Amino acid sequence: MHNLRGDFPILQREHRGQALIYLDNAATTQKPNAVINAVANYYRMHNANVHRAAHLLAEEATNLLEEARTLAQSFVNAAHHEEIILTKGTTEAINLIANVLTGQLGPGDEILLTELEHHSNIVPWQMLAQRSGASIKAVKVTQSGDLDLDDFHSKLGPATKIFACNHVSNALGTINPVAELIAAAKSVNAFTVIDGAQAALHQSVDVQALDCDFYAFSGHKMYAPTGIGVAYGKLALLEELPPWQGGGEMIERVTIETSTYQRPPYKFEAGTPNIAGAVGLGAAIKYLNSLPRQQLVDAEDKLIRNCIGRLKQIPGARLVGEPAHRSAVVSFVLEGSHPHDIGTLLDQQGVAVRTGHHCAMPLMDALELPGTVRASFSLYSAEEDVERFIQAVDKATSFL
Ligand code: PMP
Repeated sequence: MHNLRGDFPILQREHRGQALIYLDNAATTQKPNAVINAVANYYRMHNANVHRAAHLLAEEATNLLEEARTLAQSFVNAAHHEEIILTKGTTEAINLIANVLTGQLGPGDEILLTELEHHSNIVPWQMLAQRSGASIKAVKVTQSGDLDLDDFHSKLGPATKIFACNHVSNALGTINPVAELIAAAKSVNAFTVIDGAQAALHQSVDVQALDCDFYAFSGHKMYAPTGIGVAYGKLALLEELPPWQGGGEMIERVTIETSTYQRPPYKFEAGTPNIAGAVGLGAAIKYLNSLPRQQLVDAEDKLIRNCIGRLKQIPGARLVGEPAHRSAVVSFVLEGSHPHDIGTLLDQQGVAVRTGHHCAMPLMDALELPGTVRASFSLYSAEEDVERFIQAVDKATSFL
């Protein structure tokens, strides 16, 4: 198999005097040479502003940006490149979607979320509820970390105007049955919004098969740079919905009194975009397309099963969430210890994990936990990572 780890220079560095074991991939993934070089080469050779100037550099930069859009389109199997709006990331994508939907709901209408959401799929909807007079409901999560489907069906109804849910939970790794949830939400004519931040790298995403109205993801969680992401929206909807931010690039004609707008996706892309970020996103998708992805996802599943089995054998370690379908995240607590203390002890042993509420406070409230320790894996994770992680947890228990 391709030597994936060799493609990521940072994995060769030391961490507190030991080889780095990077298990914070759900926060952000590391970047391969292919992405680092593409971004550097863009600045060295092609840097210009896009879509405006009549010179060669601008033409090259524009082509690179549009190539990234087309690559993102095929990455999620969108029907049209106009359906790919380039954003800063998932957070900005969801804020954009929540803003352009403002006129679609009013008092008495409901926005249905779940307790499993990241704050970025909660707060923008609260702000929309405040603007529109709509109210928010949330599907309960079970102790296993799965969505309570009976609760979903009891809360979904004619008042539901928007259903927003993550594809994969960043806190517990739960893979949600989004196709089934979207179909049910569509039967009551709700807009469907999927937060795909944690799914894009590990699942193959097909927005046409899912039939969602909107899908959001971040480049930096799939080997691309920070500051670039995608809001996918169905073209017919994007044609109808108003823009969000106003400024350059998104207009057709401007007078002092009024403006006409461009067609999608440009109507939703005010100002100079993150061109270098888009180039990096394009390079990351090309890199992913060059890998035997299914084989790597299968290897990652095996690794996680092994990690969970080993973790369960450590006295005092308790897994948080044992969902029916799990992606590359393992959350746990050590009885009697604060997650931050465990994180510090692991860090001292060269193992980088995340601790805390993982931007999912309502989930922590539902599980009655202050936080967890989260080890999250990527396609470059190896048996050695699990081995060093388990040894470090084992050693941490002897200190606590
Ligand atoms: N949703 C989920 C499920 C996430 O894991 C994250 C990132 N932790 C986000 C949304 C927000 O992504 P970003 O910070 O890249 O906008």
